[in-house]
Amino acid sequence: QTSSKPPPLPSPLRFSKFFQANMRILVTGGAGFIGSHLVDKLMENEKNEVIVVDNYFTGSKDNLRKWIDHPRFELIRHDVTEPLLVEVDQIYHLACPASPIFYKYNPVKTINTNVIGTLNMLGLAKRVGARILLTSTSEVYGDPLTHPQPETYWGNVNPIGVRSCYDEGKRVAETLMFDYHRQHGIEIRIARIFNTYGPRMNIDDGRVVSNFIAQALRGEPLTVQKPGSQTRSFCYVSDMVDGLIRLMEGQNTDPINIGNPGEFTMLELAETVKELINPEVEINMVNTPDDPRQRKPDITKAKEVLGWEPQVTLWDGLPLMVENFRSRLGISKA
Ligand code: NAD
Ligand code: UDP
Ligand code: UDP
Repeated sequence: QTSSKPPPLPSPLRFSKFFQANMRILVTGGAGFIGSHLVDKLMENEKNEVIVVDNYFTGSKDNLRKWIDHPRFELIRHDVTEPLLVEVDQIYHLACPASPIFYKYNPVKTINTNVIGTLNMLGLAKRVGARILLTSTSEVYGDPLTHPQPETYWGNVNPIGVRSCYDEGKRVAETLMFDYHRQHGIEIRIARIFNTYGPRMNIDDGRVVSNFIAQALRGEPLTVQKPGSQTRSFCYVSDMVDGLIRLMEGQNTDPINIGNPGEFTMLELAETVKELINPEVEINMVNTPDDPRQRKPDITKAKEVLGWEPQVTLWDGLPLMVENFRSRLGISKA
């Protein structure tokens, strides 16, 4: 026996669930490095419609060139510090400059992006009943006194330093996510991203991997900041995107570290890049500003909860990035 009456409208509306088969996904900061790779992956699924909003501060339309006229894709120039009205099912909220050069350029703007931008995306999530994922950062751990860093570590962060607009901004963004979750029942996901590298990174964004590769390709000395024994762990961007999608699709509300636990000193990284590109280039030891001494994710939780762990080693990932930098810099293989 069939009823002639349609089922009552759910409130708030979950558009794709009830009216169409497609999942409509908003990616803020989708014209940036990680965002554009995420968009590529989401667009592979024919059931996904993707809307990117970006103000192009550090991202570029060029990163999304192949999707510009695609019927399941839309690109909107918009600053997330302003309210946004769209109807979506999921929000990947990445909008925020990630490199110190850019986030220190206008620190007040960086705080606004993290705080007001995240508030707006949460207001949007609340209105349309969307699930929202925030890309937080390992920087919430500051200069960590625990090594490696599990999600339960509360961090050692300077509230008044030059990195604070970013670190503390992301910490407030996480707080807002949890308050909207507790107060309004919003479905939240928080990824604490550790250093990520790969094709499409800004060539001049001052991060260590992009600096070393660009310097070696140009035949310039590699600038290793003193003492050179400080460590970082580098995750290839395809692994990162895979982790973010698993997190969004899973059931885990608490923050989760996503990164590659392989730990290298900056001198080791410089030697690897030299070997890969040009063994002749020199290494210049330069002075370091306020700089965390070591950083490495504890990814036990990501393994358990998401069944995720990185697949691409630094030795496999670096050559892919070198190829991309070669073609963007117009430097052919010797
Ligand atoms: P990115 O700078 O390449 O991308 C950020 C994007 O956000 C850019 O396209 C930029 O134009 C856009 N954006 C910035 N402010 C905006 C605003 N107010 N309104 C709209 N768009 C804005 O950086 P990324 O490396 O792709 O990082 C993406 C996210 O991941 C960021 O939230 C960052 O904090 C986080 N993250 C990245 C790393 C990393 O190693 N790359 C590490 C930790 C966390
Ligand atoms: N907001 C938005 N898009 C929406 C709904 C809300 O950008 O679709 C913004 C809104 O302008 C506000 C913020 O999100 O600044 C928080 O919204 P919320 O409804 O939680 O708070 P209120 O507007 O009641 O202060
Ligand atoms: N670094 C370096 N040479 C550079 C840029 C950075 O030795 O040209 C070092 C820097 O001191 C830090 C590490 O590389 O110890 C990672 O720096 P990056 O800015 O890439 O990332 P973050 O400090 O945010 O982890």
